[in-house]
Order: sequence, then structure tokens, then C-alpha cells
Amino acid sequence: MLPQDAVSGAPTRPLTLPRVGAVVAAVAVVLELVWLLAALPEAALVSDVTATAVASWASYACVRTMRRHPAPLRRFWALLALTMGLAAAGRLLWTVDRLRADELPHTPLIGAVFTAGIVTGTAALLAALTAPRSAVGRARTVLDGVIVGLALLPIGWVVVFRDVAAADLDDPLRTLGLLYPMIDLMQLTILVAVAGPARSVWPPLTLIGAGLVTRAGADAVYVSLVAHGSYAPGHPVDVCWPLSYLLIGIATTRPPPPTCEGAEEIGESPLPSWWRVALPYLPVGGAIIAVVLARRPTGQTPPLVFVGMMALLGVLALRQGLAANENLRLVARLRQLAYVDQLTGLPNRLMFNRQLRQALREGPPVAVLLLDLDGFKQVNDRFGHATGDTLLTSIALRMRAAVGDDGTVARLGGDEFAVLVAGDRTVVPERLAERLLAALQPSAGEEDVGVHPSASIGIAEFGPQHASHTDLLRDADIAMYAAKAAGKSAYRTCTPALRESAVTRAELIADLRRAVDERQLHLEYQPIVDLATGAVRSAEALVRWRHPRLGLLAPAAFLPLAEETGLIVPIDRWVIHEACRAAATWRARVPEATVAVNIAAAHLRRPDLIATVTAATASAGLAPRALTLELTESALIDGSEAVLERLAQLRELGIRIAIDDFGTGYSSLSYLHRIPATELKIDRSFVARLDTDVRAYATVEMVTRLAGAFDLAVVAEGVETEGQHAAVTAIGCVHGQGYRYGRPGGLSALHALAAPR
Ligand code: C2E
Ligand code: MG
Ligand code: MG
Repeated sequence: MLPQDAVSGAPTRPLTLPRVGAVVAAVAVVLELVWLLAALPEAALVSDVTATAVASWASYACVRTMRRHPAPLRRFWALLALTMGLAAAGRLLWTVDRLRADELPHTPLIGAVFTAGIVTGTAALLAALTAPRSAVGRARTVLDGVIVGLALLPIGWVVVFRDVAAADLDDPLRTLGLLYPMIDLMQLTILVAVAGPARSVWPPLTLIGAGLVTRAGADAVYVSLVAHGSYAPGHPVDVCWPLSYLLIGIATTRPPPPTCEGAEEIGESPLPSWWRVALPYLPVGGAIIAVVLARRPTGQTPPLVFVGMMALLGVLALRQGLAANENLRLVARLRQLAYVDQLTGLPNRLMFNRQLRQALREGPPVAVLLLDLDGFKQVNDRFGHATGDTLLTSIALRMRAAVGDDGTVARLGGDEFAVLVAGDRTVVPERLAERLLAALQPSAGEEDVGVHPSASIGIAEFGPQHASHTDLLRDADIAMYAAKAAGKSAYRTCTPALRESAVTRAELIADLRRAVDERQLHLEYQPIVDLATGAVRSAEALVRWRHPRLGLLAPAAFLPLAEETGLIVPIDRWVIHEACRAAATWRARVPEATVAVNIAAAHLRRPDLIATVTAATASAGLAPRALTLELTESALIDGSEAVLERLAQLRELGIRIAIDDFGTGYSSLSYLHRIPATELKIDRSFVARLDTDVRAYATVEMVTRLAGAFDLAVVAEGVETEGQHAAVTAIGCVHGQGYRYGRPGGLSALHALAAPR
């Protein structure tokens, strides 16, 4: 019966049963050594008994550890237990036979038991966690071991038997003894191969390795002694065998490796170092030299050496065949990795480009459909990457089904897919695009949870205007963007006009990049009046671009591009600095003057907005309360907690926050409550309809009252007519802005308008 803690796997205490066992076994080995060295009587018996006892104990210790260690290690310990058990049994048989016959009893039965031990021992090594998992990997490891072992045969022959009289070598037991060290070396080679990277070898494997080295040494000495006829049982070398069992027994006291639990997931082991790869082949060189030396005395190859060499050649050939086969497999796998998208199993961009080039070589008709998911990023952000991946996989499947034999579907990366239509395929690309869009329509369930984005498809057909496959892909890209602009779930074919407009778009982006640095931007200021007094104490800064070729451009002509490309951030930064400087000069004349600047949503999401604003006010010497940041409703609604936090920080600095174009977004009262705004700017679409639309009137009235309740100032935007002016004044708006009071203009115009009274 095992003690309870051994079964339950409770943490090992310093002096547990296995450790006591190890100490007792160690003492026994030391006693044996003393006994043999001192040549006390019955040395042979003492040697036999110790070896049998220590092997039995080691076997028992392995069984215990097998029960304690996690499942992936069970087979390893079980096989080791069996190996030790066989060693004990073999030694016991040996002892009995030896006592009966009084000579070295190399009987077939004992040989069979020891051979079984060799098989189980080798199997145990192959069951180590760090051993190769695949059958091929294991076969390769074993073959490496066999190569080293066989190579040792001629070497051992030369070293051990060279000075032994030829007549004595007729006794097969003497010469076959060479097989022992050979097998030890085979197992050692296997151990080195399965032990994993040198830095992280599991301690029990090191101990087992030490046991193997001990046994190899003992076997070599034993063979040498037997060959020279000078071995007698009870020789001091005998102590080495129980010592090797002892080391294995001690190995059982070590804890399982930390990586044990994840062992199943470790797919491919790291690359072995070069010397591990070369190791099995080094002895082969030694073997060749040894064969030459072995032939020297008689001019003949000793039979054992001859058989060994033949076997070595055979195993080497097998090993090479295995390696070649594995290489082919690896090449196939590499090709698969290089050309196939790992998520969807579709051809990847590299493969797609190859196929496209090939199709172009074969000649038209060739068409490319480029498909991009609308709103995939949101799915990823909201539901996580796992959902995103599932979505991509399902889309790949649907696309493949929709395209069928009419084209080749590929995933170019991210949420971008492509279909190549080439050769004798007769499908019209536009029909294929319709089929694709229909196939990607979300099912009812997907629509509900909103995890299914729609797609935009751009089509380009190969023509004389295309110099290469990149031209064709660029056209498909242009068409795809046009499809996106046309709204969700659309397709467009690239036309000359579309290409033209895309080119100007690209040029405009390039120009915009230079605009800030080359001082092509300037600000105009539109007055904001106090409706009660008519005084102008505030102005909104509006950006203008004097384009070198296209002339003066309004924000609508370039800000969308700037937002798309991220250029909005440097532009806004420049605007803030410039407006602060202007406000400072204005305040020199009108101390209560303030200025408002527009901030893009993208800028609001950046943490450095605060730094930009404080730097601008500080360098202009402007009081922060003289600066208002105008943010559109939509920018605020999208805002995260971080954005709200940033707004609160700005408010703490004294900066004012206006909600621009109020009424155009989908704001709810609850969000008004959360945003630390100081004013509302009622969108000019409401103001424009004030004269004619009672509902617009009611809306402006309601918003003004609401703003009052929230203690927010109200600016009516876009006041153009006297009627609108009268209406907003009657409703009680505090401020007005619009052509009725003044168009956006230069700073001097503002100074003239806003002269102190
Ligand atoms: P916004 O902030 O609502 O600016 C008011 C827009 O209404 C300005 O157009 C102004 O010229 C126009 N406007 C003012 N009064 C009237 C009127 O009585 N009738 C009509 N029909 N329009 C009037 P603008 O300058 O073209 O600017 C358009 C938008 O571009 C701005 O709308 C603002 O959202 C954005 N924007 C302008 N400058 C900047 C800037 O420096 N940075 C950022 N991020 N956005 C800017
Ligand atoms: Mg504005
Ligand atoms: Mg506005």
C-alpha cells in the first residue's frame, strides 16, 4: 500500500519515503564499493544482491512517480519502471545461474530479458515530453542512435580486441559482449536527441544520462576485461551497475517539468543546434578509420566488423531516405505557409499576384474584383478579434461558394479579398460582383447582433492602358473606393473618368501634405454677435487653403481628405496656434474678446490635444478662457471615457467647449448631461427654416430652453435674413452667427467690426 500523500500528489516534504529509499540505496552502493575494493569474501554475491536490490527499488520508485506525475509523463515512468524491473529480473536470473554453474552465465533467457530491457529503456526515452511527437521524428531519433552504436563496433573492436589472440576471439560470447557498450551509446545518443535545448533539460533526464554514461563505462571495461580473460564476478567495476540504477531511482524524486501541462500544445520543437544534428555522423568517420585499422593485422575484415559496417551502411541509407522524405514534406509545408492565408485557407496576396501575372501572360480577358468589408474594424473593436476571425472565415466560405468555378478567390490581407477571373471563364465580372454581394448579405440573426458588415467591390478589367498587374490592381482599388463612397453593399467598375478623379485625389493629398509647411493655409474669422447689444466679442476661426493651382479652397474641399489621411491633426494644430495668436492681438484692443476653433473628431481622440492647446495659449500669451473649442455632436457621441476625461481636463484649464452643429447628430439628453460643454451652436439648417417651418421654430425654441436648463450659452448659426434674426432674438438665443452679421473675413475686417464702444 502506498502512503496517502503519494497518491494524492500532495507537495513533497523534505524527507519523504522516496528520499529515504534513495538514501538507503546510495548507502548500499557505497557499502558494496568498499566491500569490493577491500576484496572481502563473497564479493560476487554482494555485488549481485546489491544490483538486484537497487534495480528493484528503482523500479518501485518509478511506479510511485508514475502515479504522482501528470498524465503526459505516465508512459515515460511506466516504461522506465519496466526497464528497471527487467534489469532486476535479469540480474536475479544471472545470480541463480551463476551460483549453479559457477561461470559467466550468458544464457539465451538472460539475453532475452536484457534485450527486452533495452527496448523498454529506449521506448522510455522516446516517451520523454521533449522527444519528437511524430512517428518519423522518433524513427529518425532511433536511427541516429543506431548509427552511433553501429559505428562504435569497429572502433570498439580495434580498441578492445587488437591485442587479443585471434584464437580467443572464436568464443562468440566474448566478441558479442561488444554489443553492450554499443547499445549504451545508442541510448545515450537518443537521450541527447530527446532532451531538448541544453539550457532547459529536465533534471531527471540529466540523471538518467549520467546513469547511462556510468553503464557505458562499466560495459566497456567489462567487455575489455572479459576479452582479455581477466574478469571475475565481484570485480570493483561491478559497482557501476547498481550506481546507474541508483541514478535513475534518484531521478524519480525530481518534480515534473513546469511545461508539462501545456505539453500537448507544443507543436513543433525548436530547431536543434548544429552539433546535435552532426553528432550521429561524427562516429561514422571514426568507424571508417577503425575498419582500416581492424584489417591491418590479418588483412581480413573481422566478421563482426564486416556485419556491423554493412548494417551501418543500411541504416545510414534508411536515415538519409527518411531525411529526404522529411525535407520534401517541409518544402510542401513551407510553400503552404508562404502562399496560403492561414486563417481562411485561401490563396494569399503573394499567390494571388503570381496567378494574376500568369493570367496576364496568357492574355485577356482578365478581370480583378477587389472586395473590402465595410465596417470590419468596428466588428473587431466591439466584439474582439476572435469574432473578427470567425467572420472572415465565414466570408471566405461564402465567397468561395458564390464564385464557384468562375474565378479564384484570394485573401489579400485584413478584410480585403480579391477574385481573379481569367482564361476561358465567361462570367461577366459585374454579374459575379452581384452574386458576391448577394451571398454576403447578412442573415437575419447576424443583422440583429450587427456582426456582419457589408462589402464594397471594385472591378477592373485588363486593357491596353495597363502596363502591369499593379496597374490593374490599382484600378480595382480606385473602383473599390468609388463603391465605398457610393454607400454600403455596392460595386463599381473602373472607368477612365473614375481613374482621372482618383489621380487628382491622390495629387490633392500630396499637395495637402505640403500645405502646412509651405504656408498655403490661412484663417478667416467670422464674427459672433451678442444679439441683445449687437456687440462682436467673439469670432470663429475658419480655415482656407490657397491652392497653388486650384485657387482658394473651402474646408469642404479638403478637410474630408485631411481626415481620411490623418493630415487633419497637423492642420488643426496649426489652426489652434494661429487662432490663439490672432486672439491675443485682438484682446490687446478688446480685452473680453474670445476666439473659437473647430476640432476634428480624430484630434479629439488624441491624448496630445491638451498639450497642443496649452502650448498654443501659452506661446500666444492668451488666457485659456479666451479660447473655445468647437466639437461636432458626432465626434462627441463616438467619444469614449478617455475623451470625456480629456474634455474635463480642458474645462479645468478654463478652456470653453462648444457643441457645434447641434441638432444634426443623434444626441440624447443623457449625453448632453455628461459632456462638460459651455455652449451649444444650433445648426444652421434649423435657422434657415425658421421663417417657413413651425417645427424648426419649435426645435430652436426647445433647444434654447434646454440649453438654459443646462446652463449653456446658445449660438444660432447661419443667420442670414432679418426674419431669422428677429426669430432667434425673440426665442432668446444669446448669440448669433451668420452672413446677416458678417461673413468670414480677414483679421482687419474683424477689428473694424468689433471696435470697442
Ligand atoms: P462650422 O464650424 O459649422 O462653421 C460654420 C460654417 O458655416 C462656415 O463654413 C461658415 O462660412 C458657414 N456660414 C457661416 N454663416 C453662414 C450663413 O449665414 N449662411 C451659410 N450658408 N453659411 C454660413 P466653412 O468655413 O465652409 O466651414 C465649414 C466647416 O468646416 C465648419 O463648419 C467646420 O466644421 C469645418 N472647419 C472650418 N475650419 C476648420 C478648421 O480649422 N478645423 C476643422 N477641424 N474644421 C474646420
Ligand atoms: Mg464651427
Ligand atoms: Mg457649425
